[in-house]
Amino acid sequence: MSTVAENFPFRDLCMFCEKVANQRGKDKKRKILSQLISEWRNRHKELHKDDKNTTDSFFPAMRLLLPQCERERAAYGMKEHFLAKILIKVQCLSEESEDSQKLLNYRAPKSAKDVAGDFASVAEFVFRKRCPPETSPSINLEEINKHFDDISINNVAKNKEEIKKTFRFLTHNISSRDLKWLIRMILKEMKLGISEQTVLNTFHPDAKELFDVTSSLAKVCDRLKEPSLRLHEIEISLFSPFRPMLAERADPSQVVKMMQHETFYIETKYDGERIQLHKNQNVYKYFSRSGNEYTKNFGSCPLEGTITPYICNSFKNSVKNCILDGEMVGYNTRLKCIGSKAENFDVKNLGPDNDYQPCLCVFDILLYNNKVLSNLSLRERLEYLKDVFEPVEGCIMHATREEASTEQECVQALNNAIDQREEGIVVKNPASIYRPSARKGGWMKVKPEYVPDLMNDLDLVILGGYFGEGRRRGIISHFLLGLAVPGSCKEGKPQVFHSFTKVGSGYSICELYELVNKLNNHWQVYDKKNPPVSIVLASGHKEKPDLWVEPSKSYIVQVKATEIIKSDRFKTGCTLRFPRVEKVRYDKPWFQCMTLSELEDLKQQAQGK
Ligand code: ATP
Repeated sequence: MSTVAENFPFRDLCMFCEKVANQRGKDKKRKILSQLISEWRNRHKELHKDDKNTTDSFFPAMRLLLPQCERERAAYGMKEHFLAKILIKVQCLSEESEDSQKLLNYRAPKSAKDVAGDFASVAEFVFRKRCPPETSPSINLEEINKHFDDISINNVAKNKEEIKKTFRFLTHNISSRDLKWLIRMILKEMKLGISEQTVLNTFHPDAKELFDVTSSLAKVCDRLKEPSLRLHEIEISLFSPFRPMLAERADPSQVVKMMQHETFYIETKYDGERIQLHKNQNVYKYFSRSGNEYTKNFGSCPLEGTITPYICNSFKNSVKNCILDGEMVGYNTRLKCIGSKAENFDVKNLGPDNDYQPCLCVFDILLYNNKVLSNLSLRERLEYLKDVFEPVEGCIMHATREEASTEQECVQALNNAIDQREEGIVVKNPASIYRPSARKGGWMKVKPEYVPDLMNDLDLVILGGYFGEGRRRGIISHFLLGLAVPGSCKEGKPQVFHSFTKVGSGYSICELYELVNKLNNHWQVYDKKNPPVSIVLASGHKEKPDLWVEPSKSYIVQVKATEIIKSDRFKTGCTLRFPRVEKVRYDKPWFQCMTLSELEDLKQQAQGK
């Protein structure tokens, strides 16, 4: 089967280059380029009408138009002087001849006149009478590329004689104008007056993006043959993994602006492994973010694997096939909650006797009954997702999501996430389409880490405990922390403590258990009518813990946070934003915790920053 390049004269490409170079104005140049591309596409359509899967593409022309982007062929290793010597040799000229001097001194205005400085134009001038005329038959693009291959192979092999042979053939078979363009291609400087970006954009709106990712003009031309098919649609097909859409970092103060002051979604940021599930009837495949397959582990059919048997019945009957994007997390079957990676289990290799089971938290859908959905907005995609499966607690669930529009809501959501021991939130633009591997497509990850931690190493004492809510009911999951009142000392040890902050994250479930266990014998139920004398809460018993512990029996935790903010919920009148436990200081006795006067110093310092 022949290719378009086999039927496309090199001379036509050179004529086209001449036209673009001589045309003034980017738009007009662009127009000529798009004519060439459409002409090529038409021929391609005609030639391959019976073979839709052909590998033939615009690549043979593209690599000549953008020689500086060539990665498939090794370097030619030639500069002007070397080329001059070769051309002189193959034409059997004496080095002293006028023409040889023109080539060798192509920069000198005297010998090269108005084309001085441009080696290719000087060569065109010199070879005007030596090369065949414009009217002679032209070699085609397939052949010219073959010659370029030979030059590059022989350059790598340092085979100068073969290179000369190629040039001898070329100077006898192409016109002097074609030689000019051939030289520009070899020197990788086309002087067309349009940028690489314009050429790529004219070919396809996604060409630049794909080239940036793949560095391959061959892939760009092959995958973007059809101008109306966008990259994200092309990349998504059943049972072949695609690179998932990513999120860029943001802090809460940037979100509203980045969302162009429109409503946005705030989703839970799950701490597991990014997994895409491809399902066609009873065939299931699971792929990781880097495209590795984990079907063996998770299960290729309803009878096998650590998850497929438990989710296969949750799909609605109307679903023939689909691709879901989500996070595979470990679900703690005993505590009935999602664990975090810090708990040291590998969600891909969970055995039946483990406390954890894999659970897919689905946040996107890319294909539904053979329809690629990536070009729809997230809002529309979620409409499809709603009707795909019935959630099964601990096996397959929808990611939790709320709509918001202000920075406060974002800060609040992040605060709640930290409180829930999650590492952050994901903010998404409802209007965004799904762009594989894009990081700036409208998804943002917001974590307290992105807000600089101004408060580090605060040693606070545990004053109380809170029972978890919902699934963590019955377990102490959060702590009330406090500071010592310096004037209250007896025998050098503080006797009164003020409530300062509440913390619920930074520790793993095992660390939490160890701590709670150590405190087990000392917890007392907090009774508003009979509050402990050693612990002072804000007026009205705000932020009242469920249980309290005598500070002298308690432990210090080392906490970090982003800043100190005003709050009437704690006795100190202020609290920490995004507090997280760095470690439990079993080595430090309770009475060495931070004091109110140290807090005052810290506030002063923070104001000075
Ligand atoms: P990145 O993935 O951005 O290169 P990373 O590997 O360090 O960085 P994170 O910074 O933790 O990952 O955040 C991004 C990851 O969060 C995503 O790749 C995805 O696996 C995960 N994630 C969890 N929940 C969601 C969600 N609701 N929407 C999108 N991604 C989520």
